[in-house]
This record gives sequence, C-alpha cells and structure tokens, in this order.
Amino acid sequence: MEPYFSPLSQIYPEPDSEKTIMGSVVYCIHHKDGCKWSDELRKLKAHLNVCKHDTAACSNGCGAQIPRVLMEDHLKYTCPERRTRCEFCGQDFTGHTLENHVGSCGYEPLYCENKCGLKVQRRHLSPHKSNDCAKRLVGCRYCSKEFVADTLPAHVTKCGRVPVTCPNHCESGLLAREDLDGHLKDHCPSLLVNCTFREAGCRFKGLRHSLDKHLDESTKSHLNLMCTVVNKQQHQISSLKSALQRLSLNQTGTLVWKISDYSSKMSEAKTKEGMELVSPPFYTSQYGYKLQASIFLNGNGAGEGTHVSVYIKILPGEYDALLRWPFAHSVSFTLFDQTSVPEKACNIVESFIPDPTWKNFQRPSKEPDSLGFGFPRFASHEVLKKRHFIKDNTLFLRVKVDPSKIVAV
Ligand SMILES: [Zn+2]
Ligand SMILES: [Zn+2]
Ligand SMILES: [Zn+2]
Ligand SMILES: [Zn+2]
Ligand SMILES: [Zn+2]
Ligand SMILES: [Zn+2]
Ligand SMILES: [Zn+2]
Repeated sequence: MEPYFSPLSQIYPEPDSEKTIMGSVVYCIHHKDGCKWSDELRKLKAHLNVCKHDTAACSNGCGAQIPRVLMEDHLKYTCPERRTRCEFCGQDFTGHTLENHVGSCGYEPLYCENKCGLKVQRRHLSPHKSNDCAKRLVGCRYCSKEFVADTLPAHVTKCGRVPVTCPNHCESGLLAREDLDGHLKDHCPSLLVNCTFREAGCRFKGLRHSLDKHLDESTKSHLNLMCTVVNKQQHQISSLKSALQRLSLNQTGTLVWKISDYSSKMSEAKTKEGMELVSPPFYTSQYGYKLQASIFLNGNGAGEGTHVSVYIKILPGEYDALLRWPFAHSVSFTLFDQTSVPEKACNIVESFIPDPTWKNFQRPSKEPDSLGFGFPRFASHEVLKKRHFIKDNTLFLRVKVDPSKIVAV
C-alpha cells in the first residue's frame, strides 16, 4: 500500500500554512490494521519506513510486496525464491523448483502397489515389482502357468510338469512327474512284471519285453497249471454243491410229498411196467439217517395193477458211521383226504416198525441197490377214487419217521 503523500507545497503555497499542517497530529495510515502510531504529519514518512503493517519488497527478490509482519513467514514458506531442501534426497531447491520435484523424487518411499506391504523408494519401485515383490506374478518354469511369487514354491512341490527320473532307472531319462504312474504301469522297460499265469502258479518274473517271449515259450506248462486250477475248482464246486444240497435237504424226519399231475402219471404207470416215482431224499434229523420214499401208482408185487404201493429206502448218508444199525425207527405213511371239511377227513395210514433181521435196514452200501420196505397194497385204485384223495389232480403222501419208537435190538 502506497502512503498517502502528495506535494503539499502545491496545495499550500504559504510556508506558514505548510508548517502548520506538517505539525498537525495524525494516526498511521495502518491505524485500522492495528498500528497505534500517532504523531505529527511530518514524521509519518519516517514511521512508514519501519511500520510493521506497511509493505516492503521481498528481500529474496521474488518481486512480491509483503507486509513486514508477514515477511518472515513468506521468506520461510511461501517465497518462490526461498532456499529449501528435499526431505528425501537432501538436495537444495528454491521454493518453486521443489514443487516440481515433489512427486518425482527418486528417494521418496512409497508403498508397493501390489500390496506386498513393503515401502520402496520410487527409483527402486519398478525393479522391485518385476524382480523381488512377493506379490508379483511369475510363471512356473515347468508348467508355465502364472502364480503369485510367494505361492510358487508350494506349487512347484506338486507341479505335474516337474521332471523326475524313473525309480527303475530305465533309459527313459527325465519324465514329467504326472506321467510317472502311466510310465511305470504301461511303458517302463525296466519294470519287473509277473507272469500273467502267476495266480495259477507260474513263478516267472522278468522285464516287460521278455514276458511275451516267456508266454510263447511256456504254453504247455501254463496249460498244465491251468488244468490243475480247473481240477481244483471242479472239486470245490462239487463239494459246495453237495454242501448246498445237504443244507437244502429236509432234516425234520417228516416228508410231505406232493405228487402233482396225477392222471398223466397214473396212465403212464399203467402202460409202463414197474414205473416208480421217487421222493426227494430227506434226513430223519440233522445228523440222522438219509431216506427216500417211492411210490408205484399202478402197484408193485402183490398190488400190481390194483393198488398204489409205497416204500421207504435207506440211502447212504453222511453220518451213517455214527448211527445205530440196523435202522429201527418206526415209519408211517399217510395219504391225505383233501376234503374241504378237515374234521371229516379220513386219511389212509399205514405204519411199520422195521424188522431188524431184514437186510434192508442194515447200513446201506455206497451203491444203493436195496429195495425199499413198505406196503404193496397201500391203497386200492377203487378207494383212491372215493373221498378226496385226489384233488386238483394232486396227491399228498406224508412219510413220517418216529425215533421215539426205537425198537431195541
Ligand atoms: Zn504504522
Ligand atoms: Zn519472496
Ligand atoms: Zn528429493
Ligand atoms: Zn511389492
Ligand atoms: Zn508348474
Ligand atoms: Zn522306467
Ligand atoms: Zn508264466
């Protein structure tokens, strides 16, 4: 601000008047800004030279007019010509060159943009990001897929393309880890393989390529081995079969024999001499005698042509060696009257106690040629037509062995 000062001599030509005016008391022109100075007008110019509120040119020569009271701040902080120093690199700058320098100083530490957590000087940032940063992307050198750098070691421990050598030290050289299993299984020339007939007993073990030769040369011995296996299995099958049969045999001592399709069987019996129907074998108990019933629909012996004959035979059984001989259980045959009113049923029942002297009740030989024992005249053809012995073209004959009626020999 320019002080109010005009050539008074032109306005007041009178020397006396001028003297009077210059002697009048005035306030400093910066009174309103807070300057308390007050004196004769003639001293104002001198005061303004030192008044804190009056402006002065910047002493750095930046050209700015600054109130003296603010000069210190200006020189220190805002003067574009002030001398200053970069806090990062330590270089000296003037105020306005520093403003250009800030934001590009190579020594300013900055957080890495990959969020690895490190602070790196600006000049090192770009090499850091491409060479050292834990979060940079790097390609696996084996499979060339990209990984964040700090996860790469974990990947490499399982990367399928990492080269490994065959544990059999074959001539295949390096293999990708993921190909090793297939190599060992199908290709490794150094792997010892067992003969295809190992299960059959061949002991051969050799290099893969020699197996074909072995197979060609050993046809005969392999066939022999297989033959033994087949025989062994045949044996097992038949013993399983007989075990199964034994398990499925009736072991209650009571057989209820269903003879269906009666009329055609009867007419066949009439034209075919000695036609015998035999029942499924059954046991008198779990470890008892093995028996089989038989029936001649057109009779046998004394009943031939007129009666139905029924017999029981003793078959060679599993436990014969442990049983008492001769066989002495009572046996009864029952032909059921299949009336719809069971209380009125009138069954045909015959039973016998074995004669210990008769050879049929001795322990049977392995070749069962024995005749049965029974009733040649069990039921006459006449009786059979009465009542309901035949119903739905079916007969039911029960054969019951009663061990409680053992006859002491
Ligand atoms: Zn002042
Ligand atoms: Zn300045
Ligand atoms: Zn700097
Ligand atoms: Zn980083
Ligand atoms: Zn990889
Ligand atoms: Zn190999
Ligand atoms: Zn072999």
